[in-house]
Amino acid sequence: MDHQPTDFDSVISGAGLVGLALAAALGREGFSVAILEAREPVHDWPADSIDLRVYAISRASQRLLESLGAWPAIAPLAQPYREMQVWDAGSEGEIHFDSAELGEPDLGHIIESRVIERALLDVVEGTGTVTRFCPARLQTLEYSGNRQHIGLDDGKSLTARLLVGADGKHSRVRDLAGIHVQVSDYGQQALVAVVETEKPHQETAWQRFLPSGPLAFLPLHDGRCSIVWSATSSKAQALLALDDQAFCRALGEAFEYRLGEIRAVGDRVLFPLQAQSAEAYVKPGLALVGDAAHVVHPLAGQGVNLGLKDVQALADELHAARASGRNPGAFTVLRRYERARRGDNQLTLAAMSAFKQLFGSTLTPVRLARGLGLKLFDRATPVKAQIIRSAMGL
Ligand SMILES: Cc1cc2nc3c(=O)[nH]c(=O)nc-3n(C[C@H](O)[C@H](O)[C@H](O)COP(=O)(O)OP(=O)(O)OC[C@H]3O[C@@H](n4cnc5c(N)ncnc54)[C@H](O)[C@@H]3O)c2cc1C
Repeated sequence: MDHQPTDFDSVISGAGLVGLALAAALGREGFSVAILEAREPVHDWPADSIDLRVYAISRASQRLLESLGAWPAIAPLAQPYREMQVWDAGSEGEIHFDSAELGEPDLGHIIESRVIERALLDVVEGTGTVTRFCPARLQTLEYSGNRQHIGLDDGKSLTARLLVGADGKHSRVRDLAGIHVQVSDYGQQALVAVVETEKPHQETAWQRFLPSGPLAFLPLHDGRCSIVWSATSSKAQALLALDDQAFCRALGEAFEYRLGEIRAVGDRVLFPLQAQSAEAYVKPGLALVGDAAHVVHPLAGQGVNLGLKDVQALADELHAARASGRNPGAFTVLRRYERARRGDNQLTLAAMSAFKQLFGSTLTPVRLARGLGLKLFDRATPVKAQIIRSAMGL
């Protein structure tokens, strides 16, 4: 017999990092929560393997993970990066960020997605207030009598005062709620892989802007690097088709051999790149968080970080509503969350698109201005400090 409860304060659809963090935050505060996830989580993996999904986690995200009690399980597998080196293929411009200049121990951490997922799952399991439905897919949705009526693909029905769509960029919750999403295709794909380099990564995150898109090398805790090579779709396909040796040569050259020769490359995977923005984040009894609400270019590594900021903001509003006896699904409560987050997310979306345009241009005046701008910027210590602190989410 099935003893799982079916009525909740909140149902969260999607147990990616954003959905799990929200479940942990609400569960720890005593909300009754259900979390639905279509795929089984990964608990174990071979010791020498690296997840292809690797994230640059900001200081603000680290603080949230600390406050949830997830950080101690993550820290031993997190690689701090203390410096950032960014340069332009089309000009002389180069910028260098150093955590020492800011009086900070590091600029952030590079962490495998599955490491954060496992740590958050453990926190969620420990709350005693979160019920996991997995594998389960949300299929139908109806809002009536101040309750969301949710149908799952296995025939189960759940009800909740608040349904949260944390189900990623193809969000079913968003579609069923009739929330329109603006999509603009960057015309690029990101090739992701783990590589071994001749020289050590020096605890530095490296990024070179090429005319076809940015190429990033992120330092991993086992000494290797995770690369994200964004390029026009045809170029990305061509890179994917190369044999390992030819790919390593092309990568080394594109990276100007800053870390020497590329000695080995693992599996290569392509991700299509799009910018997306939901026209609304909330409706009565419903909120969108993370990629369901907004998708940005990975060039500044902000996607998960923005999603975790959504989690913090929504959890804060729900706690405040509860403290004053208000319904967590009330539109006025949810609108406060939307107002707190939409501006920041839109700004990041616009900045990423502008960056892509600026560095994608091969026009001589743009290239010259870019080189000069980067050089001036590199010398403007207070401006640099301000920018990097904002990227750290501080
Ligand atoms: C190449 C690349 C590099 C990136 N690098 C970075 C980086 O360095 N730093 C960073 O912050 N961000 C980065 N990002 C962005 C980051 O991947 C996303 O922002 C992040 O994964 C969004 O998390 P999410 O939990 O909102 O969505 P997702 O990770 O997409 O999770 C959604 C979950 O919902 C589940 N789901 C979907 N539909 C249903 C349904 N109907 N029922 C039940 N479950 C469902 C899915 O199985 C999934 O587990 C990168 C992205 C790309 C493409």
